[in-house]
Amino acid sequence: MSEEVELQSFILKNGFIWGPEPEIYGGTSGFYTYGPLGKLLKNNIENELRKQLILNKFYEVECPTILPRIVWEASGHYKGFNDLVIKCSKCKKVFRPDKLIEENKGKPEGMSKKEMLEFIQKHHIVCPSCKGRFQQKIEEATLMMKTRIGIDEEAYCRPETATTTYLPFQRYYDFFRKKTPMRVFQIGKAYRNEISPRQNVLRGREFTQAEAQVFLTQEEKNNYKEYEEVKDLKIPLWPYKEQKKGKPKKMSLKNALTKKYLQNKAYAWCLGITYTSLINLGIPENKIRFRQHYPKERAHYALDAWDVEVLTPTYGWVEVCGVHDRGDYDLTQHSIKSGKKLVFEGKKKPHVLEIAYGSDRILLSLINIFLEKEKERIVLRLPSHISPIKVSIMPLVRKDGLPQIAKKIYADLREEFIINYDETGSVGRMYRRMDEKGTPYCITIDYDTKKDNSVTIRERDSMKQVRIKIKDLKETLKKLIKQEIEFEKAGKKFN
Ligand SMILES: [Zn+2]
Repeated sequence: MSEEVELQSFILKNGFIWGPEPEIYGGTSGFYTYGPLGKLLKNNIENELRKQLILNKFYEVECPTILPRIVWEASGHYKGFNDLVIKCSKCKKVFRPDKLIEENKGKPEGMSKKEMLEFIQKHHIVCPSCKGRFQQKIEEATLMMKTRIGIDEEAYCRPETATTTYLPFQRYYDFFRKKTPMRVFQIGKAYRNEISPRQNVLRGREFTQAEAQVFLTQEEKNNYKEYEEVKDLKIPLWPYKEQKKGKPKKMSLKNALTKKYLQNKAYAWCLGITYTSLINLGIPENKIRFRQHYPKERAHYALDAWDVEVLTPTYGWVEVCGVHDRGDYDLTQHSIKSGKKLVFEGKKKPHVLEIAYGSDRILLSLINIFLEKEKERIVLRLPSHISPIKVSIMPLVRKDGLPQIAKKIYADLREEFIINYDETGSVGRMYRRMDEKGTPYCITIDYDTKKDNSVTIRERDSMKQVRIKIKDLKETLKKLIKQEIEFEKAGKKFN
C-alpha cells in the first residue's frame, strides 16, 4: 500500500473523514463527511484558533456564504478567479494544462496560453483518461460555484470567507466606536470548483476557513503597538529573494523588518501570532516554515503574501495558512461598486491585513504528522488538548462489581471531558484501540480498586502506568491534558 492509501484507510476506518460523498452513489471528488472523531478533532482545532484570535483582540462574526454576482464583480473574483483548462476532444474530460505540463517535466509558470498549447503538441501529450487528443484551445474556467437566488438572480457560493467579512465595514466602524485598528474573524465554509480535487481534504471543493482581518490605516501599519509584544519572536522565514539558493532561517521579526524582508510592523505581528497559534496546536517547531510569494505569484489583491507551510510525511510541505497584505484593494473596490463611502474618518482608506487558516488542512496535517506505526501498535500521538477523546474508562473484567464502579467514574468524568467507556475485550486490546484513536489516557478499574479506591491511569505515548485515588482523578486528568504536570508525578508509580 502506498503511504497515501494507508493514511486514507486509517482516517476512514477510525471515523475521522469519510468519502468522497455521496459514497453510496459512487462519490463526487472534493466532498467529504467528518465522522465522529474527525468532527471532534476539527472542533478542537477551530476552538484553539478561536481562543488565540480572541486573546489577540479579534471579534468573531458570521456572514452569508452565498452572495449575488455584484459582490464578486467588485472583489475581482467574477473575472479573475479562474483555472486554465483544456478539453479532450474524444471523451470531453477537462484537465489543467499546467498540471499536464508539470507531469511532462515542463515549467508552466509564466507560460502564455499559446506557449502551453505548443508544449502540449510538441510533447504529444494526450488525454490521461482515454489517450485521445486535446482540443486546440485553452479556456478559462471559473473556480466559483454558481447558484441562484429566487427565480433568476445569479449568485455564487463564497470562494473565501474574507470578502464576505469586508461587506459590513460601516457596521464595524460604529461597533468599534471609530477606533482603529478593527479586528474581526470568521470561521466557516467556502467553496472552490477545483478542476481536479485531490489529496483528500487538502484540496476539497468545500472547505472550512478561519480567516482573521485587521482593518487599519496606512500609517498604522508602522505604528502598531502590539508589535512590541512579538518583535523578538524568532520564526522560520523564507523570503522570496532567498528561495533560489538558501533555506528558511529562524530570525526575529525585528530583524526581518530591518532586513526589509517584511514591510511593516502590523504585518510582522500577523506572522508572529500565526506562528504562536500553530505552536499552540502542537505542530513541532521544526516542521513549520513561512514562505514568501514571488511578486508574480501573488493573488490579484495582495501587496505581500506569505504561505505558512507544515512538513508532513505523506504530502511534503502543506500550506495550512496564508498571511496577506491586501492593501486598500478590497474596500476601494466595494466603495466604487456600491457607491458607499467605505473610509475611516478624515477619508483615510482602510487597509486590510489577513490571516487565512484552512482548518481541514491543519487537521489532515496533524493526523499525518502524529500517526506512527510501531511494532505492536498503531498510535496517533496527537497533543492531548486537541485529541478527540481524552479518556477511556475500562473495567478489568465484566463481573464482581467492577463495571458498576467504572460506570460511576464514567458518569462523573463525562461532565468534564469527551470520554469513552469500553468493557468489550482484554485490557491490552482495549488500549490498542484507543491508541489508534489518539486517546491520551486510559483508566483501568481492577480488584484493588475495591480495596483502596484507586485506579490505574495508563499514558498512551509512554505506555507507563500510575496508580491514583478516585477522588483525585478529575483534577489530575485536567492537569495532565493541559500538560501542567508530568505523567510520572501524577500518581504512585507501579509496574
Ligand atoms: Zn479523453
